Amino acid sequence: MSAIDTLPPLREVIETHGLSARKSLGQNFLLDLNLTAKIARQAGDLTECDVLEIGPGPGGLTRGLLAEGARRVLAIEKDTRCMPALAEIAEAYPGQFEVINGDALEIDPLAHLSPPIRVAANLPYNVGTELLVRWLTPKEWPPFWQSLTLMFQREVAERIIAKPGSKAYGRLALLAQWRADAKIVLSLPPGAFSPPPKVHSAVVHLDALPEPRYPADAKILNRVVANAFNKRRKMLRAALKGTAPDIEDRLIAAGIKPTDRAEVVPLEAFCALAREIEKT
Ligand code: SAM
Repeated sequence: MSAIDTLPPLREVIETHGLSARKSLGQNFLLDLNLTAKIARQAGDLTECDVLEIGPGPGGLTRGLLAEGARRVLAIEKDTRCMPALAEIAEAYPGQFEVINGDALEIDPLAHLSPPIRVAANLPYNVGTELLVRWLTPKEWPPFWQSLTLMFQREVAERIIAKPGSKAYGRLALLAQWRADAKIVLSLPPGAFSPPPKVHSAVVHLDALPEPRYPADAKILNRVVANAFNKRRKMLRAALKGTAPDIEDRLIAAGIKPTDRAEVVPLEAFCALAREIEKT
C-alpha cells in the first residue's frame, strides 16, 4: 500500500523525537496511517473546511486529515515534546498546518480559524467529554463547528448515542442529541494504539443541527440533566430538589411524573422542564 505522504513512518517519528507515551497526558498514539486516514474520512469532506484538531501528539491523525485534503488544520497540543515532530508536518504542508502549544481547555482557537469549521480529535476521555459538553452548550446556536469527529472510550461513545431507558442514557446523550445528530462510525480494539489502552475505543461523529430539536436555555438544561442524573436512582422530585423552587409543580407542568427516574424521561420532556424553570 502506498504511503499517505512522504514523511517518515510514525514509529520512526516517535523514536527520533523521544516521544515515549505519558500516562498523565492520556497518550495512546495511533501509528497506522491507513487507519488515521480512515478516521479522517469519517469527518466528511474537508476540502472546503478548516479543521480544528485537539491533541495531535506525533501527528498521525493530523497527517490523515491533511492527506484527505483539509483546506487547513489548526492543532492544539499540550505536550511541548511533540512540537518538533509537528513542525515537520507543517514543512511538508506549507500554509496548511499550524500548531499551538497549550491546553485546549484554556485556549480559544477561533481567531485562528475560518468557517466552515470541522473538529477532529483523539483525546484523553476526560478532556474529550469536557470539551464535548462545552461545544454542545454555547448560548447561541448554530455553533462555530459544523461537525465533531471524536475518539472516545467505547463506553463513553455509547453514552453519547444512548436512548431513554438504557443504562448508558444520561447527560451526554441528552446534550448531544438535543443539538446534533450523533452516531458511532468506527470501533477500534486496544491494539490499534501504542501503548494499547485497557478498553475498546470508538469514533463518534456529530453533525450540528441548524436548530436545537426543542427550545431550551443551554445553561438551565445542562444544570437540570446534570442534577437529574447525578442521583439517577432517585425519583425526580427528590433528585431535582434544590434545582429550582416548586420543582414538583414544574415537573407536572412539563408533563413529567415527579415519581419518575431521570433515565425514562425523553429529551423533549427535559427541554419542557428547562423552559418551565426559565419562567421563574
Ligand atoms: N492524536 C494523536 C493520535 O491519535 O495518535 C494523539 C492521541 S493521544 C490519545 C492524546 C493527545 O492529546 C496527546 O498527544 C496529549 O499530549 C494531548 N493532550 C492531552 N491533554 C490535552 C489538552 N488538555 N490540550 C491539548 N492536548 C492535550
